Amino acid sequence: MPHEFSFRRLFIPVNRGSDVLNSLRFALKSINMETIRTVKELQRAVKKNLLTPLGFVPTMGALHNGHLSLVRNAVSSCPQVVVSIYVNPTQFNDKSDLKNYPRTIDDDLIMLSAVLREKDIVFIPIDKEIYPEEDKREFHFGNLDRVMEARERPGHFNGVAQVVSRLFEIVNPDIAFFGQKDFQQLAVIRELVRQTGNKVKIISNPIIREEDGLAMSSRNRLLESEVRKKAGVIWSAISEASSMIHDHDIPFLISYVINTIEKAEGFHVEYFNIVDDEELIPVNTKEEMKKGKRYFGCVAVKAGKIRLIDNIEIPL
Ligand code: AMP
Repeated sequence: MPHEFSFRRLFIPVNRGSDVLNSLRFALKSINMETIRTVKELQRAVKKNLLTPLGFVPTMGALHNGHLSLVRNAVSSCPQVVVSIYVNPTQFNDKSDLKNYPRTIDDDLIMLSAVLREKDIVFIPIDKEIYPEEDKREFHFGNLDRVMEARERPGHFNGVAQVVSRLFEIVNPDIAFFGQKDFQQLAVIRELVRQTGNKVKIISNPIIREEDGLAMSSRNRLLESEVRKKAGVIWSAISEASSMIHDHDIPFLISYVINTIEKAEGFHVEYFNIVDDEELIPVNTKEEMKKGKRYFGCVAVKAGKIRLIDNIEIPL
C-alpha cells in the first residue's frame, strides 16, 4: 500500500482540532521536510551547487495522488526537490472560482511528508512574495492562446505564464514536473520556456485517475455527490472515441463524445477538440492528421457547477 494512505488513515479518525493531532502533524512536518514562506529563506535553503539537478513541482494545493505522482517522480530523479503550494490569483478569470478553490494546507503537508525527504522544501508563499508589485506582463502564445481553455477562460494562460515564470525565477530549477492532465498548460509552459530561453527541462507526467476513470483533480471534491457518481462518463466517452478512430471520421467522434457525456443529467460539454500536441490546431478530418505528430482529444465539461477537463491520445 502506498505510503501516503497509511498517514491519511492514521489521521482521519482523530479529532482534527486536538493537540495530539497538531503535535503529530508538527512532528511529521519537521522530520520530513522544510516548510518555507519567503523567497529569501527559500533561496538560502536551496543547495543548488551541492544537490543537482534541482527538481520543482508547482501546485495550487488541495493535493491528491496526481500531484503526488509528480512529486515522486521528482524525488526519484532529483537530489533536492521544491514543491510549491500557491493559489495564483492572476490565472483565475472568475473571481468566485478563486474564492471557492479548495485550500487544505494541513492535509497537503501530511501527504507531502510521506514522500519528501529532509532536504526537500515545501514553499508556501503569500501573494506579496510572488508579486511584490502588480504583474502587468503580457505574454503571447499564438494559437495556444486562442483555442480551447484560452477561449473559455480569457486571460488564464497569461496568469499561468506570470506565476510560472516568477516561480522559475525564484526557485531556478533544473527540472520542472507538470501533469499531462493540463494538456494545454503544458504546451504553453514549453512555449514560455522556449521564448524566455530558460534552460529548465520540462517533464510531463501521465494522468492519474480515480477508479471510475475520472481524472484526479483538486476540483473533484467540489462535485455534488450525484454529479460525482456520473463523472466517470467523461473518461469512458473520450477513451471510447479514441478506440473508434480507425472506423469513424472526426465529426462522428466529436458528436459521440458530446452526446455520450450530455446524456448524464447536469453535464454540459464546452468543447471536445482533437488537436496536435505542439500548436494545438484542431483537426476536422483524419487526412489532416500528419504522421510523426501526436494528437489528443481534449474535453472541457461543466459537471453541475464545476468545470472539469480531461484528454486522451488519439492514435494515428
Ligand atoms: P494544480 O494544483 O491543479 O495546479 O496542479 C499542479 C500540477 O499537478 C499540474 O502540473 C497538473 O497538471 C498536475 N496534475 C493535476 N492533476 C493531475 C492528475 N490527475 N494526474 C497527473 N498530474 C496532475
